[in-house]
Amino acid sequence: MSTHRSRRDFVGLGAAGMAGALASSWPSLAHGAQSTAATSAPEADTVVLNGTVHTVDAATPRAEAFAIKSGRIIAVGRSSDIRGLAGKATRVMDAKGMTIVPGFIDTHNHPIGTTLLYETIVGNPFEVEFVTIASIVDKLRAKAATLPPGTWVEGFFHDDTKLKDKRLLTMRDLDSVSTEHPVIVRHRGGHTYFYNSKAFELAGVTKDTPNPPGGTYDRDGNGELNGRVTDRASAAFSRVGRRPEYTQAEREKRDRDGIAHISKEFARYGLTSVHHQGGNLAALQDVRARGDLRHRVSYESSGSVLESMITNGIRTGFGDDWIRFGATSEHTVDGSFSERTMALSMPYPNVTPPYTGNVTETQETLDAWVERVHRAGIQVNCHANGDVAIDMYLTAFERAQRVAPRADARPKITHCTLINDDLVRRIKALGAVPSMFTSYAYYNPDKFVFYGEELMRRCMAYRTLLDAGIPAAAGSDFQPGPFAPLMGIQGMVTRTGWDGKTWGANQRISVAEAIRVNTLNGAYASREELTKGSITEGKLADFVMLSDDPHTVSADRIKDIRIVRTVVGGSTTYEA
Ligand SMILES: [Zn+2]
Repeated sequence: MSTHRSRRDFVGLGAAGMAGALASSWPSLAHGAQSTAATSAPEADTVVLNGTVHTVDAATPRAEAFAIKSGRIIAVGRSSDIRGLAGKATRVMDAKGMTIVPGFIDTHNHPIGTTLLYETIVGNPFEVEFVTIASIVDKLRAKAATLPPGTWVEGFFHDDTKLKDKRLLTMRDLDSVSTEHPVIVRHRGGHTYFYNSKAFELAGVTKDTPNPPGGTYDRDGNGELNGRVTDRASAAFSRVGRRPEYTQAEREKRDRDGIAHISKEFARYGLTSVHHQGGNLAALQDVRARGDLRHRVSYESSGSVLESMITNGIRTGFGDDWIRFGATSEHTVDGSFSERTMALSMPYPNVTPPYTGNVTETQETLDAWVERVHRAGIQVNCHANGDVAIDMYLTAFERAQRVAPRADARPKITHCTLINDDLVRRIKALGAVPSMFTSYAYYNPDKFVFYGEELMRRCMAYRTLLDAGIPAAAGSDFQPGPFAPLMGIQGMVTRTGWDGKTWGANQRISVAEAIRVNTLNGAYASREELTKGSITEGKLADFVMLSDDPHTVSADRIKDIRIVRTVVGGSTTYEA
């Protein structure tokens, strides 16, 4: 970064010289520092002393202390130097040797706090936990008892490989919930669904109904429907049955409460910035206005919000440090990694009849969408998991750059799961930014068995991409993945799952790299690397205090490190 001053510069400056340097280097600080700028050191609002600070700033990777004024970091260095910036009113935070890293950034998240608060949750959203099919049926039965017949009964956060029963949920299981209500259990991955007979009856889908493009009605060995439906085949069900109805006021309240709720959860896990996949923009602003937004939002739009951005000239970057329009929401090109529907160039191992996953869009439609968004000056973002889908997206973007060239466009590739050498070369050439699964390596080893080690060596390929100079970022994809950044970092470093099994160890990265992926690379993905992502003079004062140093604890304990304090813009958003 051109504006950065090195540690040597800082240490060499006396207090007065430093104030002058700050005033000239950082015009944005002028308001806060005006009265003292010319004559003495600026008095910090807060100084953080005696820490083990991993700054993620290549010029000064380690520090002990830093000072904050008006929500920004104004100096980074040794405790003895920073202490001098404290005045009578300055708050002194003694880190007592604790580890401090920049605030974590999650670049792909569906922040469905409303679901967490108000819906029937049939799996554990945050941790590895095995449940029974009986427990799912019980919860849904209780829910059905509160709803009139014909109304959907929905279960959320199901994970098909976290069942003690060690088999898939079936239509028959869900018929035991109700034969009067349509029942749906949504896989947390968001691409597969399990329905009861009533739902199939209402949707008019029988064993003789052919699979639609981009989806399947799954069948058992005898050709009978088994209840599982993938990707675009779910459309037949979304048009039928009654759903609970809410007034406008009720909906808005639910959305506000949901955002405030999940914001608290983000802070608890050390997140200071999250890229939201859509959501109620008005509610988001209300929650901020009432003081309940604890994280910064890169808002990724779709539908009518994206449409109004395009037609009204609102571009990526519009907004402020708390709520800013980022890339688009993920525009889906293929299926799911965890639910085994992503589009592969080879058949899935051990699946009969041969299956290569779901492509959910034609190349022509994708080309047109990418070009339109790109021409509008908005950062394009597509969901592409399998090598086939990544190839399609890159093809569309290469074409868009030919017809409407723009420097530093940073097309975002959500997931970018299965790569090969040719794709890596093209990603690099386009300056694309992959946002890849984080917690999966720890959370989902029970899925990797379906792909096998040979494919897993090319999946979630952090090592390959970082080595190619591509700034891969962390995208938990909550609700599909838990969003705990430390769980993510452990998985990136070890590639070992909860069950002790290791997959694709060739893609391991170092602790320092994994922290960078979860901080500075995340800032780069939303074009905010000049204002966040590292503990650097002039940047926003977003950081996390940890109970232990991820560099020194045993790698299989990183996820157990406690978040002691989360700070956004100098204000504490979570304290253990
Ligand atoms: Zn997603």
